[in-house]
Amino acid sequence: MRCPACQQETFETADLCSQCGFSLPALEKLMGFAPNLKPDVTDMAGELSKKELNMVRKGIARLEHRFPQVRCAVVISSTPPNITLPLHAFWLFNKGGLTSALERGGANRLVLLVLDPEAEKLACMIGYGLEPFVSEGRLLASMQAALASLASGEIGAGIVACMDHLGTHLAEVAESLHKAFDTGEEYQGLENLETNNAAALAF
Ligand SMILES: [Zn+2]
Repeated sequence: MRCPACQQETFETADLCSQCGFSLPALEKLMGFAPNLKPDVTDMAGELSKKELNMVRKGIARLEHRFPQVRCAVVISSTPPNITLPLHAFWLFNKGGLTSALERGGANRLVLLVLDPEAEKLACMIGYGLEPFVSEGRLLASMQAALASLASGEIGAGIVACMDHLGTHLAEVAESLHKAFDTGEEYQGLENLETNNAAALAF
């Protein structure tokens, strides 16, 4: 994985980043108690209208229906002043109570979108179980699908566009895997594999 603090490659199992020394315990010390996140949408910034909230919930349900092993959560929140958005996303991903003890490591197929409406930034983090199928480039492409809506203030539509884009990509991966097992064809989806699991961009 890529270290959420210094963005360098580091080992998945390392407690400390081998590049910058970052650790989750150090982040915990800095951040204190994590908020208790809702399993689907946590709008701390109060940005979504009722209609938008429904739209986002439906988008999540659509993705989870297509891929029953995937779970998706959305957090809308300003980034605390002492950390960056990727670090905040990492913190929420690991400490927000979104995954159970059974969903560790490769069983973690959570997709977490964290949107900071004030800073106009969006971050996406995925669990280890999805990393082989979704490269950082793919994650960025899905977030870019949200840009037009986000830039015009349509946050709900932007989030849904991102999730739908990711769903389409996962469907393509599933299709290639299917083909690979059916015909002995080489699986092409991993050719651009990057070992990253988070991406962020500004809108
Ligand atoms: Zn680091």
